[in-house]
Amino acid sequence: MRLIDYTLLIDALKDISPSLTFNEPMHQHNTFRIGGVAAITVTPSTLEELSTILTLHKEIAPALPFCVIGKGSNAIFPDEGYDGLVILTTELQNVSYAKPEPDGYVTVSADCGVSLTLLARQCVADNRSLSGLAFAFGIPGTVGGAVVMNAGAYGGEMSDVVYAVDYFDPQSCEVKRVFRHQLNFSYRHSLFSDHPEYVVMTAYLRLKPDDREVIISEMSKNMTSRRLKQPLELPNAGSIFKRPEGTFAGKLIEESGLKGYTVGGAQVSEKHAGFIVNTGGATYKDVCTLISHIRDIVYQDHGIALECEIKLISSEPSNQ
Ligand SMILES: Cc1cc2nc3c(=O)[nH]c(=O)nc-3n(C[C@H](O)[C@H](O)[C@H](O)COP(=O)(O)OP(=O)(O)OC[C@H]3O[C@@H](n4cnc5c(N)ncnc54)[C@H](O)[C@@H]3O)c2cc1C
Repeated sequence: MRLIDYTLLIDALKDISPSLTFNEPMHQHNTFRIGGVAAITVTPSTLEELSTILTLHKEIAPALPFCVIGKGSNAIFPDEGYDGLVILTTELQNVSYAKPEPDGYVTVSADCGVSLTLLARQCVADNRSLSGLAFAFGIPGTVGGAVVMNAGAYGGEMSDVVYAVDYFDPQSCEVKRVFRHQLNFSYRHSLFSDHPEYVVMTAYLRLKPDDREVIISEMSKNMTSRRLKQPLELPNAGSIFKRPEGTFAGKLIEESGLKGYTVGGAQVSEKHAGFIVNTGGATYKDVCTLISHIRDIVYQDHGIALECEIKLISSEPSNQ
């Protein structure tokens, strides 16, 4: 990308955001530790700044590819880099708790960049005792990424607790609110899966007070299970594939004898075959080649087409 073609946008962004960087290594912004540089990155510190950045992008350089990234725990970037604008949400950290409603429920509003695990912990801190997020304790993503993916674990998912979302619609450059029934949640899917151009700004969760000891014990049980079963000692991006109907991707992969199968620095985890780990120096290409090999073999052995859960980000128009 020739940055000179985007001077107008860059100048406008410089005026509103001190966080603008060029050629930022994206491997520093995802849990897989993979990816080349992004041409332009910006890390807004308020929702207003995020709105302004998105509006400037739409008005000045709508053809420039852009993507929004939280903790990058479900996304990887190509080795050759991202020829566009990457907006990092991790500085957007506001959380507020409304007064309890007559039925006891509390509405919690969280900016898209809030860590899901920290939010779950906050719900049982400072005299609070709010249930509903124990399932999310240990998911290493942000609230925004979790809403988009309808992240879930241990019998819970975001759709159980999210009752409304504010998002930026680049068509009208407005922040709009949608409610639970409009969010089209299903397994690892939401309204935002169908509209990757929308940007989640704030999520409103309705949480019920419950016994704090019970909530903490559930959180700790879930975390222990993660530590036991998941290869947390090596960089990864969680489950690579969605769960196929009636079975588990990891089970099929293991039955196909692929545990430990390696391409370059990418390996099917020895601990949990549903994960690919970066054993050192894995590239995007290694991961893509390994994913493709796993899909072929599992299809050959079981007749099941595995669907990717992780997002393979690209600035190429065909992949947008
Ligand atoms: C060790 C490990 C364990 C995991 N366990 C689980 C689990 O139990 N359950 C589960 O569901 N997932 C799990 N994950 C995957 C991941 O943590 C979740 O999907 C998480 O919700 C992704 O959040 P993120 O902020 O990292 O999203 P990112 O990886 O940054 O982004 C994911 C996608 O969402 C988009 N996105 C991010 N923020 C926004 C926004 N504000 N607006 C619009 N689009 C946005 C991105 O463009 C991308 O397409 C795990 C991952 C790891 C590494």
